[in-house]
Amino acid sequence: MNNFDVVVIGAGPAGGQMARLMTKSGYKVLLVEQHEDFSKNDFSSAVTPLSTLDRFDLPEEIIGSYWNNFVVVTTNIRRNWDSPENLGAVLDFAKLKEFLAKDVKSCGGEVWMGYRYVRHFQDNEKTLVTLKQRSGGKLETVSTKVLVDATGFARSVMYNKQSDKPKLLSATGIEYVIEVDEAAYNQYLNSIFFFLGYKWMPKGYSWIFPMEKGRLKVGAGRFNLEHKNIKHTESLQYYIQLLIDKHVMPKEYKIIDIHGSTIKYCQGLKDIYYKDNAIAVGDAVSTVNFLGGEGIRHGMYSAELAATHINRYLENQISDFRDYQNQMRRYFLPKWEISAKAGVNKYLIESDKKIDESFTYLGLLTTEEIIAVLFEYKLGKLKKGFVKYLMSKIQIPNFFKEVGDLRLLFKKLGV
Ligand SMILES: Cc1cc2nc3c(=O)[nH]c(=O)nc-3n(C[C@H](O)[C@H](O)[C@H](O)COP(=O)(O)OP(=O)(O)OC[C@H]3O[C@@H](n4cnc5c(N)ncnc54)[C@H](O)[C@@H]3O)c2cc1C
Repeated sequence: MNNFDVVVIGAGPAGGQMARLMTKSGYKVLLVEQHEDFSKNDFSSAVTPLSTLDRFDLPEEIIGSYWNNFVVVTTNIRRNWDSPENLGAVLDFAKLKEFLAKDVKSCGGEVWMGYRYVRHFQDNEKTLVTLKQRSGGKLETVSTKVLVDATGFARSVMYNKQSDKPKLLSATGIEYVIEVDEAAYNQYLNSIFFFLGYKWMPKGYSWIFPMEKGRLKVGAGRFNLEHKNIKHTESLQYYIQLLIDKHVMPKEYKIIDIHGSTIKYCQGLKDIYYKDNAIAVGDAVSTVNFLGGEGIRHGMYSAELAATHINRYLENQISDFRDYQNQMRRYFLPKWEISAKAGVNKYLIESDKKIDESFTYLGLLTTEEIIAVLFEYKLGKLKKGFVKYLMSKIQIPNFFKEVGDLRLLFKKLGV
């Protein structure tokens, strides 16, 4: 039987980063992924701020494109915030995961692709993990000192049954990668476009992001919950086609890939963070932000935190992962709860008019301020925009109603 110090289930950004860090610390590591290769599960649009690249030491080869312009289109308005410097990147999600797995291997770790986690159990001092090869169904058992749940929204290691899971908010997204003519592509060069409102994507948002020359990611995602006003929506494919036909308007285009997945967030962060010598990272403990659906760098950050605790555990300095849970909750809970509330409000409650209005007023924020709101979750900056908005509206008769509405919104969000 193969013996490891750490077995990581799931080779997404969180699992890959976890395995990479533990291998670099000199431990015997196995990274397990159910898919045979990373192109099979290339579901994420993978937009990230520029800081992610340095923070996690990621190479140029995984970057699809850079962006320095952030555009929002609602039913009736369009706003953009730009900068002379690059603000972020659109990653090639499959290449990111491939890079992390390669780094694990080059530092002496093992990566088993096409193996699915089945169960684990204690046998004296050892934890035995059963894995099933997807092609052929062969069962393998390995032993480990620490087991990591990095299975994303599935949370497969921490929960035996679906019914054991806490209540989860969920959203589903689908994305096409299309190849278009130069003129169509150039409309999105160095820009990321988000579409909100009832016309483009009720109950969520849709997007167009550029990748390498000629390729665009065009996607749509929405909450899997009832909307206060909207009773009927079309399929996600319908809204993607709408973007292609009415916004990209290519002379001709070719679909290169269609992918999609789900994110699941536990309100109040009541996920199981650890159980005996098993510990969970990434989306398995709701590190995805439920307002924007951004989760790559947060999952990688959780892996970094967990790695420091696993190191101490393996050196017998601690006997459980309680401090990891406390640290994670302290870091994520305040910002994540406000974001989830804002998400529910924006995507499931607000009228189309309100969505237009909120971006009219966000349009008064500077690029730095909007980036701080959206990527650093500094929702306090909204107040500054609110004051600018009031100053610009001071002559308008429904001023007092709007003040009341916006105050109510800030109160709801706790900012
Ligand atoms: C449509 C969509 C668009 C998104 N866009 C962005 C974006 O633009 N920017 C951003 O930062 N985030 C985005 N996200 C969110 C982001 O992709 C996730 O938060 C991130 O991938 C979470 O990383 P993870 O490693 O925790 O989980 P995952 O990436 O979900 O990885 C989990 C891995 O575990 C494997 N696995 C699951 N069960 C088993 C099992 N039993 N055995 C073996 N392997 C298993 C899965 O195959 C998968 O590879 C998006 C998400 C979706 C759905």
